Amino acid sequence: MQVSLSCEHKTLKTAVYPGTFDPITCGHGDIVRRADILFDRVIVAVAVNAGKQPVWGIEERVELARKVLADLPSVEVVPFDNLLIEFAKQHGASIILRGLRAVSDFEYEFQLAGMNRRLAPEIETVFLTPAEQYTFISSSLVREVARLGGDVSEFVHPEVKKALQARYN
Ligand code: ADP
Repeated sequence: MQVSLSCEHKTLKTAVYPGTFDPITCGHGDIVRRADILFDRVIVAVAVNAGKQPVWGIEERVELARKVLADLPSVEVVPFDNLLIEFAKQHGASIILRGLRAVSDFEYEFQLAGMNRRLAPEIETVFLTPAEQYTFISSSLVREVARLGGDVSEFVHPEVKKALQARYN
C-alpha cells in the first residue's frame, strides 16, 4: 500500500461560525476556542439582522466579538448580510460550525443543516458542544440577568460585561 506523506494536497480548512452574537457569551467563546484547535481558520460571521431584531447594532456586536477573541490569530470576526452558504463560498469555507447546548437546540439546527446541505452539498455542517458550565448560557438570558442587575461575570468576557452595564445602568 502506498501512503502519500506529501503536504501538497493539504488544503486549509476554514470554518464559518454564524450567529447573532447579541452579545457574544462565554458559550460562544468556548465553541470558537474548540474550533480554533480543529480548523486552520475560523470566521465568526455576525448576522446583520437575523430576524431576531438584535439589541446591539452590527458594529457593536462585531467589535465586542473582536475584543473577546483578540488572542486568537486564526480567528476573524466579519459581519454578513447575505445567504450563509454564499458567504461561506466567498470566504473559501467548507465547514459551517454551530453549537449545541441541549436537545432543545437540535430540531432547529437539524433543519438548518438540512437546508444548507440542500443548497450547497459540498459544505458540511459541524456541531460542537461547550463545556458543561456554559450549556445554559444564551445571549438573551444574559441580557435579561444584566437588565435586572444580576452579576454576569461568569457568563461573559469583562468587555461584554462593561457593555451590558453601560446599556442597562
Ligand atoms: P443564532 O441567532 O444563529 O442562533 P446565536 O448567537 O444565538 O445565533 O448562536 C450562534 C450559535 O452558537 C448557535 O449554533 C447556537 O446554538 C450556539 N450557541 C449559543 N450559545 C451557546 C452556548 N452557551 N454554548 C454553545 N453554543 C452556543
